[in-house]
Amino acid sequence: MASRMLVTHALPYANGSLHLGHMVESVQTDVFVRAMNAMGKECIFIGADDTHGTPIEISSRNAGVDPEEWIAKIHLEHAQDYKAFGIDFDLFYITHSPENELHVRRIFEALRADGAIEKRDVLQIYCGVDQRFLPDRYIRGTCPVCGTKDQYGDSCENCGSTYEPTDLKDPRCAICGNTNLEKRTSPHYFVKLSKYQEWLRRWTGSEGRLQPEIRNFVDQWLAEPLRDWDISRDAPYFGFLIPGEKTKYFYVWLDAPVGYLSSTDKWCQEHGRRVEEFWGRDADCDIVHFIGKDIVYFHTLFWPAMLHASGWKEPARVHVHGMLTVEGAKMSKSRGTFLNVREYLDAGLDPEWLRYFYAANLGPTTSDIDLSLGELKNRVNGELLANVGNLANRALSLVWKNGGKLTRVPPSEVFQQARQVEREIGELYARCDTRAVVQKVLDFSSAANQRLQAQKPWEKLKGDREAALSELTLAVNVARLCARWLSPIVPRFAHGVEEQSGAELRWGEFTPLENTAIGEPRPLVRKVEDADIAKLASRFVAPPQVGAPAPASAEEKPGLVTPELSIEQFDRMELRAGKILAAERVPKKDKLLKLTVDLGEPAPRTIVSGVAQSYAPEELVGKVVCVVANLPAKSFGKGLASHGMILFASGGDREHTAIELPADVKPGSQVK
Ligand SMILES: [Zn+2]
Ligand SMILES: [Zn+2]
Repeated sequence: MASRMLVTHALPYANGSLHLGHMVESVQTDVFVRAMNAMGKECIFIGADDTHGTPIEISSRNAGVDPEEWIAKIHLEHAQDYKAFGIDFDLFYITHSPENELHVRRIFEALRADGAIEKRDVLQIYCGVDQRFLPDRYIRGTCPVCGTKDQYGDSCENCGSTYEPTDLKDPRCAICGNTNLEKRTSPHYFVKLSKYQEWLRRWTGSEGRLQPEIRNFVDQWLAEPLRDWDISRDAPYFGFLIPGEKTKYFYVWLDAPVGYLSSTDKWCQEHGRRVEEFWGRDADCDIVHFIGKDIVYFHTLFWPAMLHASGWKEPARVHVHGMLTVEGAKMSKSRGTFLNVREYLDAGLDPEWLRYFYAANLGPTTSDIDLSLGELKNRVNGELLANVGNLANRALSLVWKNGGKLTRVPPSEVFQQARQVEREIGELYARCDTRAVVQKVLDFSSAANQRLQAQKPWEKLKGDREAALSELTLAVNVARLCARWLSPIVPRFAHGVEEQSGAELRWGEFTPLENTAIGEPRPLVRKVEDADIAKLASRFVAPPQVGAPAPASAEEKPGLVTPELSIEQFDRMELRAGKILAAERVPKKDKLLKLTVDLGEPAPRTIVSGVAQSYAPEELVGKVVCVVANLPAKSFGKGLASHGMILFASGGDREHTAIELPADVKPGSQVK
C-alpha cells in the first residue's frame, strides 16, 4: 500500500438533477475517504461534472442558453446537493476546463505517438432536417432482430441485441422525427485498443485491482480481440476540438475520465502540490475509482490503456457498486419512485438517515441495494437511535444531571477488545464492507447497553454514587468508540458525541476519557417519524398490473433524461387555437391523418397526427383544437411534413381524444 491515496467518484452528467441512485456511490466513496483519512492516510477526494456531449448540446440549445451557462447552473446545483449530504470532495470541478483540454490533448498526442490512432471513413446516419450526423442514441427505430419498436440505434432493450444503426428498421431522427435519413461518410479517429490487449490482461488480472465478479466480466471482453474505439464526433458538438480539425471533436467519453487527472491537477495548483505526486508513473499513491456497473468497460479498458500509453499511473483499484432499486423495483418516474436529492431534502428528511441506511446495506460486492422507506425508518430508529444513540444519550444525561463530570472507568476488558475491533473495522472499511462495519459497531454497543441494563447505575446513584458514575463513565467511553467507528458514515452524529462528551474522537486512541467535564446532552439524530416517510411515499403509485401496457419511460433511459421544465422553458412553448379545415388519411400509413389547420396565419398549416385509429377524418373537421405551434417541422417522407402538433388526451373511450376549445375561440388565439 502506498502512503497516499487519490479517490474519485464517477462524474455525474451535467444534464439533470442528482437523484438518490447517485447518492449510493457518493455515500460509499465519501465514507471510504473519511475512513482512510481517519486512519491517518492522506486521501484526496476528487470529483467533477461531466459536461460534454450531444445531450448537453441539445438541452442547452432547447433552453436557448450557451452550453457553458447550462452546465454552470447544473454544476452549482450538484455542488449544493453533495454538500447537503456531507459528500466532502477536496475538489468538485468540471470537465469543460482549460486543465482538462490540456491533458486531453497530451494524452491524444501520446496515443498518436504510440501508433495507436487511426483515421478512417465511417458510414454515418445524417439528418437533413437537423443538418447533423446522428449519434446512435439519437436514432430510434424497430429492432432488426426481434421487431420491438422504438429502440435506440445501437441496442435493443427487449432482446439485448447490439447492431449498427444502419441495420435498424424504419429509422427516424430522435430529435426531429425525420424518417428520411441519409447515410454519409465522415472521417473519424479511432484508438486501436487491441494494441494494449496483452497489457490490459496483465493489468486487470493483478491482485486486488478488480472485484472477482467484475474481473470475470472483463475477462470475457478480453478473450476476444478488442474493437477499435471511435473517439471523434462531428459538429455540432459540445466538447474539445481535435487538434488540427475544425469540425471534429473528442468524444465525451475520451475527455470525461481525463477529468479525474485534470481536476487533481487543478487541486494541486491551488494547494502548492504537483499532479505527479498522485498520477506520476512512480508516485507513492494508490488511485482508486468508484463507479457503477454501467461504466465498467470505460474504466477497466479504455481509461487504463490511455493512462498507460501516455505515461501516467494507472488506477490501483476500480471498485464497482450495485444499483439502487426503490421499494423493490427500478426507480421509475411513472411510479413516483424516481426521487431527486432535492426532493428528499425539501421534504425535511435528514441526509444522515440515508447515509446510515446505504452504508448499513452496502457490501464489498456489486449486489444491488433496495431503498425501502419503511426499512430506512426501522434501521435508523432501531439501530442508530435505539442502540448507539441511546447508549450515548442515556449515559451522558445521567452524568449531566449528577455533576456533569466523568469519573474513572471500572476495571474492564473493553479497551483491549476495542483495539481488535478497530483493526477489523479498519480492514472492513478498506474493503468497502460497511454493512459489516455497522454490524460490528452495533454488537459492541449492544454489549455495553446490556451491561448498563444489568448494573442499573440509575438505581445506584443514591447509594453507591461513585460506582454508579464509574459505570456511566465506561458507557460514555464505549459510546465514544462506537461514534468514532461510525464517524465516516454519520459524521454529524459522531461530532455530536464528540462535543457532548467533551473531547475529540481519535482513531487509535484507547486510553479512556476520565475526570473531565462533559457538554450538555441533546439528541444526536432526529427520530424518523411516519410523517417523514409519508412525505416521500405519498407520491408512490402501485406498479402496473401484469399485462397492462408499460408506462412510457424515456425519462429513465440514460442520455435522454428530461430535466424538470422551467417556467421560462414552458413560456417558450407556443400553444394556439387551431380550426381543422380538412382531414384525410395518409396512403399506406394506417395510423396517420393529414390535417389542414387554420392558425389565423396567412395560409393554413399541414399537421400530421397519429390518431387515425381514434377518429375518422370527417369527425375532426370543424373542431377547434389546441396546437403546439412552434415545433420544428417533422418529415414523414414522400413529401409529407407536419408543421405543429395537435394535443390529444389519453384515457377516454377512444385511444386519443382531441382537446377541444369552444367554437367561438378564434383560430390563432393564444392558449396559456
Ligand atoms: Zn430486439
Ligand atoms: Zn432530425
